[in-house]
Amino acid sequence: MQFMRIPGLIDPHVHLRDPEETQKEDFTTGTRAALAGGYTTLIDMPNNKTPVTTRERLEKKRTLAKEKIVCDVGFHFGSLGDNIDEFAKLQLSNILRANVESREVKDENSSRLRSNNNYLVMGLKLYLNKTTGNYLLGKSHLPKIFASWPSEIPILVHAIDETFDDVLEVVKQTPRKIHLCHVSTKYELSRVIEAKERGLPISCGVTPHHLFLSEEDTKHLGPFGAMKPPLRPRTDVDFLWKNIQAIDLIESDHAPHTIEEKQGVTRAEGLPATRRSLKLASPRSSIDGKEPATGPREVFNVPFGVPGLETTLPLLFTAVSENKLTIGDVIRLCHEGPAKVFNIKTANDTYTEVDTKANYEIKNKNLFTKSKWSPFNGWRVHGKIQRVFLRGKKVFEDGKVLASPGSGKLVTYSS
Ligand SMILES: [Zn+2]
Repeated sequence: MQFMRIPGLIDPHVHLRDPEETQKEDFTTGTRAALAGGYTTLIDMPNNKTPVTTRERLEKKRTLAKEKIVCDVGFHFGSLGDNIDEFAKLQLSNILRANVESREVKDENSSRLRSNNNYLVMGLKLYLNKTTGNYLLGKSHLPKIFASWPSEIPILVHAIDETFDDVLEVVKQTPRKIHLCHVSTKYELSRVIEAKERGLPISCGVTPHHLFLSEEDTKHLGPFGAMKPPLRPRTDVDFLWKNIQAIDLIESDHAPHTIEEKQGVTRAEGLPATRRSLKLASPRSSIDGKEPATGPREVFNVPFGVPGLETTLPLLFTAVSENKLTIGDVIRLCHEGPAKVFNIKTANDTYTEVDTKANYEIKNKNLFTKSKWSPFNGWRVHGKIQRVFLRGKKVFEDGKVLASPGSGKLVTYSS
């Protein structure tokens, strides 16, 4: 069978950069990239330049997205520990009661909204280690947040190394649904396996770059391999593959930056370009198709993150062709897993068709992401996304996005 039909993929961890940083990506380019990658539902992270930590900011983002998206999009909320009173404002029954004049809310089924378990957001994202944006939470806030956030909705945690253990400690004290984002080391995944065996209600995700790249790749990728968590030694990568059944889902952590920002030649992250970062710009990286840079080099003052929406599924199908995964694993990791953790229901006529025989090269110039680069530029992959259908409508075919801005739906959490 050459054309294989799989359910529309769900990516619960993307940074679409809209509003405020639309030089990197926007709701239209990011969701076009999603369709080109076989994804029909995304959940966007709250670490915009102005963190989405109030209902008002969330509403603004939703209003903006509604006009621009070409696939379905939900949102995670953020917290810096000072917005506990905002949590109740996200409950749809409260919003309905308050008679909020929102067309989108009125359009939805009002009896469903009256249920106390339905919310405007899909999860709460907490950053316990530094990443993109001024968004960092001290661990002392965890117990209060864990106790205040609605228990049925997951809290997602960005925690690396020792903060990973801090989070598990708090979950032990206050058991509640926790999703550990981008698990990347043997240590972290072992701790997750142990915690699951103990019956803690946790799930975990792994990114494609932590499965398909390792620390060695930072030598040729230079700043384009700078991400949080960083690329890991081969022993960690091997452990993730060996224990893939313990992983609940794959999250692309699509985190685009412009090529110039990555090279450190423009202001990025509010940091002026420094001598150190300028030095990175001179040796051409293989990212732009020129000669690869040689030798290890340090990466400073470049924004963290890589785009991933368009390369994840082809990489996974390539792993299938190498007998490292089964098609069932791909569907579990990119559809069933995220659907279960974030309670997402997709229609039967929302699906992706993959040409499993196609063999092609990933090229930056063919990408839909505004950032126009990938750490996998030049890789040969097996399996090409041929067509994508959203609620029965053909939205992608033969390398062309057919959906128009505003045709995607906003997704809310409904129990
Ligand atoms: Zn992220």
